[in-house]
Amino acid sequence: MIMGEQKPLEVILGMLTPYDKIVLAGCHGCVTVCRAGGAKEVEILASSLRLARESEGRPLEIKEVTLERQCDPEYLEAMRPYLEDYQAILSIACGAGIQFVAEKYPSTIVLPGLDTTFIGVTEKQGLWAERCQACGNCVLHLTGGICPVARCSKSLFNGPCGGTTTDGRCEVNKEIPCGWMMIIDRLRSLNQLENYRKNLPMKSWKTSRDGGPRRIVREDLME
Ligand code: SF4
Ligand code: SF4
Repeated sequence: MIMGEQKPLEVILGMLTPYDKIVLAGCHGCVTVCRAGGAKEVEILASSLRLARESEGRPLEIKEVTLERQCDPEYLEAMRPYLEDYQAILSIACGAGIQFVAEKYPSTIVLPGLDTTFIGVTEKQGLWAERCQACGNCVLHLTGGICPVARCSKSLFNGPCGGTTTDGRCEVNKEIPCGWMMIIDRLRSLNQLENYRKNLPMKSWKTSRDGGPRRIVREDLME
């Protein structure tokens, strides 16, 4: 899922300084799962904003909405009825959702209440971790199901780099395991160490962000 964290309250309050009536928009997608931008977070953030603004003597009127998804056009219509009466939308969806709201309502001010961080997994309650950097050409079949792009701090394709600590940690951040040590251990446990002995082919980054904004076209699904 796409992970994100709400911006600090004082940062959000700073963005809202010019406004007295806003729509606060959450999303039932990834940001609900990572507890950063769903209906519950909309409710809590709205209360905090109201309290903070009341204490400043400048009440803030907030319309709370949580859309099924902010990255899908069919759900964005739900906000339209409120736009005439409110000065701005504060979205706590991921960056894709926030931008799609802005595209859909070009004359409405749309503000980001959330910092989008990474594509990751829930390791356990309250702990999420990065797993994929969306390189566009997956090599997990060669690396024992562990991503060298996201799990090695230097995104090496033929590691380790020589900086692995004796207990298998990464020299860049000793809090995290060396991605390449994990790959080797996993290949060993799968009896696939021959994959490690071959150099991985030179990575083409054409499919990653380096070629500019990416698109997927599926003509079979188009109307
Ligand atoms: S190889 Fe690329 S697509 Fe596969 S998990 Fe890593 S970053 Fe994601
Ligand atoms: S120590 Fe391991 S994870 Fe860290 S940069 Fe080197 S190979 Fe990558």
